[in-house]
Amino acid sequence: MPTTELSTDVALGVAIPSRNARGRIARLGSVVDSILAAHEYPPAMENLLAEALTLTALLGALLKEPEGQLTLQAQTEGGVVDLMVCDYRGGELRGYVRHDAERLIDLPEQPTLQDLFGKGYLAITFDQPVAKERYQGIVPLEGKSLGEAAQSYFAQSEQIPSLVRLAAEKRGDSWTAGGLLLQHLPEGEEGRERLHTRLDHPDWPHVAILGGSVKPEELTDAELPLDALIWRLFHEEDEVRTLAAIPLSRGCRCDRTYVRSVIARFPADERDAMVGDDGLIRVDCAFCSSSFSIEPTELT
Ligand SMILES: [Zn+2]
Repeated sequence: MPTTELSTDVALGVAIPSRNARGRIARLGSVVDSILAAHEYPPAMENLLAEALTLTALLGALLKEPEGQLTLQAQTEGGVVDLMVCDYRGGELRGYVRHDAERLIDLPEQPTLQDLFGKGYLAITFDQPVAKERYQGIVPLEGKSLGEAAQSYFAQSEQIPSLVRLAAEKRGDSWTAGGLLLQHLPEGEEGRERLHTRLDHPDWPHVAILGGSVKPEELTDAELPLDALIWRLFHEEDEVRTLAAIPLSRGCRCDRTYVRSVIARFPADERDAMVGDDGLIRVDCAFCSSSFSIEPTELT
């Protein structure tokens, strides 16, 4: 029986054991709205960040440790977007985009990755502090969509055949974004070292065709529980398992003490230059737009 609490602001693990496939499916509603509410982005940037946050949730849900952190960062040269950062920790998501508003106006309504990022790179960092594992992979931001770029990340950096689909849609004042990630892991979710992955293994194209048939409007349909959608795609398989659902929320980790410690590390003359007309140093969090006013005397 599909459960309605698996509709939005949640990520769900999926396993198709007989096909050696695993995956994650996620949908974001109010989490995206509350993250976007801290900014005043034009629609194309809201759409981009909604998809990027969904990708961040899918990748973050792969972390084994609750303390683990996943960071997605787009670095660009000559693009309309010059920086995009999203991160995930314990189901908490945050993100922001820095872009050139004047150049964005000249872009087509459905900008390509090339339009948005120019010569861009996508850096994905998995950080699992308990196991002391930190892994970063970087791929060019190429292809038609952020989903395609993420697929190349897995193909190039991890040699794992993967399928990534992302979609975002605004209805009225509210965004819904959804995503599906599927991977071919012959040795399963846990356990033995992967010795060899045959890219032409017949199980994988089968899973990729079924998964790839998911429609953007299914991913963004907040009335359609994620387990019902997985069932719709894979009900003919011998066995489809779902793993524990991960609730997703908006979370920012900025705090006054941290901001003060960062400012305190600047040399005195640079700190003096930061003081505004009101005698305070003002620092805005790029993620959540919180503003911190620091008395220069606090720093000594
Ligand atoms: Zn913040």
